[in-house]
Amino acid sequence: MNPLQTDFAGSFVEIDEAAIIKNLNYLKKKSARDQVMAVVKADAYGHGAVRISKLIENDVDQLAVATVDEGVQLRNAGIETPILVFTVPDSNQGTAFREYRLEATISDFSHFDYLEKGTGYQLNFDTGMKRIGFYPNQVAEVKEKMQKYDHLSFRGLYSHYATADDPGSEFVESQMNTFKKIRSCFPSDVPAHMSNTSAILHYDIDHFDMIRPGIGLFGYAPGKVQSDILIPVMSWKTRVVLIRDIKRGERVSYGGTWVAPDDGFIATLPVGYGDGVPRSLSNKLKVEIEGELYPVTGAITMDHCMVYLGTHKVRNGASVELMGGQSWLANTWAEKAQTITHEIMCRLTPRVRREYQ
Ligand SMILES: *Cc1c(COP(=O)(O)O)cnc(C)c1O
Repeated sequence: MNPLQTDFAGSFVEIDEAAIIKNLNYLKKKSARDQVMAVVKADAYGHGAVRISKLIENDVDQLAVATVDEGVQLRNAGIETPILVFTVPDSNQGTAFREYRLEATISDFSHFDYLEKGTGYQLNFDTGMKRIGFYPNQVAEVKEKMQKYDHLSFRGLYSHYATADDPGSEFVESQMNTFKKIRSCFPSDVPAHMSNTSAILHYDIDHFDMIRPGIGLFGYAPGKVQSDILIPVMSWKTRVVLIRDIKRGERVSYGGTWVAPDDGFIATLPVGYGDGVPRSLSNKLKVEIEGELYPVTGAITMDHCMVYLGTHKVRNGASVELMGGQSWLANTWAEKAQTITHEIMCRLTPRVRREYQ
């Protein structure tokens, strides 16, 4: 820890570890699957990849990260669970995959050449996402290639849904059926997986051997339809650091986009887009102070934002709920910022202290 770290961070998130375990158990139950690959990419969606991986490592079969560096971070922290890297391998990463015992995603014939003897890999098939993966009609050619590269270790095959956020999408079933056919061409003792959080929550389909949830572990369903059962894991807090008065007609922050409708008070909060509050929530976000919701007014700046209190002067130093509590949850932040909950969580910067409980 930084020896100069003071007790006060501009803002901090509280992470409810018991809720993660409950969410994990619910996702297993809902999918009727025991095998889980927990997705902890992007610093476990802002929750802290090392800490979260240690918390769940005995309850899951695999972890998944996006990049080799993310996998190395987990190995250096002593995590022993198998780790799959989702993104496309690079020709100079072979040694890192082998030394850190990371499984590579192979989605092109060239990738076989990048990997060193003994390295594990999983095949990715594109059943409709058009992002990465072999096409279904390449199965025979892939199998031929695998025989030639039997010094590598085949550990699984997977695909990814493009439209499972929408609970009524027919494309989900079509992708699943395509993957089922591909799956039948490979040995059944090698696990196949396809179901992200939304497929688990919204679809009663074949979840193959293993589920692959990310955001559900952290308490949210992707998309518009939320789950009543998942428990949001993160709440984000700060405190009022200044209270000053404002006169009717005066403007707040860069560009003066907000005009005080009346004489009253402005509370300044030590949190801004440099912490991950989307600037697009300027004049939209509401926060809770002493049990009441108040509007964030004027442009959100890099390090501060301002709250109009009307004539209600709260205590200086009062704690503020930015996310969670009586305040908006991350899915409402996402909706108002016209993005998705995944992005709201990934935006949290290292400046925001993570506290685990
Ligand atoms: C991110 C990701 C997931 C997890 O998705 P959620 O919507 O967070 O559950 C699963 N599989 C792949 C390939 C991913 O990239």
